[in-house]
Amino acid sequence: MNLAHLLQRRAQEHPDRAAIFHGTEAVATYAQWGQRSARLAARMRHAGLQPGERVLLFMRNHPRYLELLLGAWWAGLVAVPVNAKLHLREVQWIADNSQARLAFVTRDIVPDLSALTGLGAVMDVDGEACEAWLNEGVAMATVEERAADDTAWLFYTSGTTGRPKGVMITHRNLMTMGMGYFNDVDHVASGDAIVYAAPMSHGAGLYAIAHLMAGARHVVPLSGGFDAAELFDLGRQLGPLSMFAAPTIVKRIVDEAQAQGLTPGDCARSFKTIVYGGAPMYVADIRRALRVMGPRFVQIYGQGESPMTGTVLSRVHLADVAHPRHEQRIASVGVAQTPVRIRVAGPDGRSLPPGEVGEVLIRGDSVMAGYWRNPEASAAAIRDGWLWTGDMGALDADGFLTLKDRSKDLIISGGSNIYPREVEEVLLEAPGVHEVAVVGAPDPEWGEIVVAFVVPEPGATPDVAALDAFCLDHIARFKRPKRYVVVEALPKNNYGKVLKTALRARV
Ligand code: AMP
Repeated sequence: MNLAHLLQRRAQEHPDRAAIFHGTEAVATYAQWGQRSARLAARMRHAGLQPGERVLLFMRNHPRYLELLLGAWWAGLVAVPVNAKLHLREVQWIADNSQARLAFVTRDIVPDLSALTGLGAVMDVDGEACEAWLNEGVAMATVEERAADDTAWLFYTSGTTGRPKGVMITHRNLMTMGMGYFNDVDHVASGDAIVYAAPMSHGAGLYAIAHLMAGARHVVPLSGGFDAAELFDLGRQLGPLSMFAAPTIVKRIVDEAQAQGLTPGDCARSFKTIVYGGAPMYVADIRRALRVMGPRFVQIYGQGESPMTGTVLSRVHLADVAHPRHEQRIASVGVAQTPVRIRVAGPDGRSLPPGEVGEVLIRGDSVMAGYWRNPEASAAAIRDGWLWTGDMGALDADGFLTLKDRSKDLIISGGSNIYPREVEEVLLEAPGVHEVAVVGAPDPEWGEIVVAFVVPEPGATPDVAALDAFCLDHIARFKRPKRYVVVEALPKNNYGKVLKTALRARV
């Protein structure tokens, strides 16, 4: 089954129901969404794109995002969502690697459409041509047939080797995730609304599927991103909103509630459910969030390779303060979500007893088909049907998973993943840099910030402003170090491997 069948069905069943909002303004009913996606599908096929070919979405959150995404699926194409914060060079790499034939972009991040090359066409989503593709011409009457294991979403995650890897997420994976939402995360009624304040290119955008299944409303804020006051306001006008947010964002929403002097009852008028995940949530922070805003939080743990589907710490678990193990539970990421099994294993793959720390493994219909044209990485990540997440953790006797550390040296800053190696590779190209090691340092606002330890070349004196400018030229802004520490030498073990633990201890 193709995910676009969900839209076709909702459009037939509830044609006049408001589906997509830009701020408080309804910009598409379900019928209009269906028609636009079907017209776009016809245009793309007419332009020569064949089922299975890739279409890049390099956009800020935009009310047309969902029409384009579903249009790509309607035509049997694979959507390649790209984080709007990436550097154009990084986007070009993804376009080349995925061999995308077409890209939809917003002009604020790609002012010059010819800057992206090698694609058949690059379309401005606010331009006249895109308008015509969506609103004029003949629609593709039937949704292209797709097998459940065909790729729907090619999601590029940063690789530890410094190069991003394309995660092949299938129609089955997303269908599983969508249906799992109702059982594990939240009930969704047709009058409900989901608001996209986090990037739609990530998990937040995938929550559109459950809300499409339910025929609910989809709201893109006018700011196109996160503005706490705007969200409270939108909720008051449209009815309580549901959303996904990284812990950093949850903190800012709670700050706003406090700044406005709101009671939990007031907060309930703006928010139905806030799903958090993607990075560790500190116990003190979730306690404060519950105290200020009431029981409207649910935690999930997942990763690009099993999108949004790993464990869940439900509203009920969070509220169960009388439970003797409540303290441990709210520090955990909860229990396995319905569609998957979770276990913790040692390096030999054997399950470890409760309490012992090992690597977290996931198995189920939400787990990716593999990495795009990368059989070695796929074979390393999925062994005997189990996804090796790279996260370290321990299960307790009740099945609650607590994450301990990440086996990779991933830095998570403001909910975004940053792989040190990628930043190191850039800095090593900068003039005057002999050696470099990048680690994360705890930060109350961002969760972690990027810190670079730099060993200068003999006789050179590193200029922090120049290093910063160099990074801005090569990688996304959010990945660049916020702090530099100049050292004579890096601590290393007998094999010459940099001791990152020692560096982390220093920061
Ligand atoms: P991504 O592939 O971008 O979704 O990042 C996934 C990684 O984020 C996971 O492998 C974890 O390391 C981390 N992560 C996701 N959810 C949580 C959570 N609830 N608590 C702590 N870390 C998380």
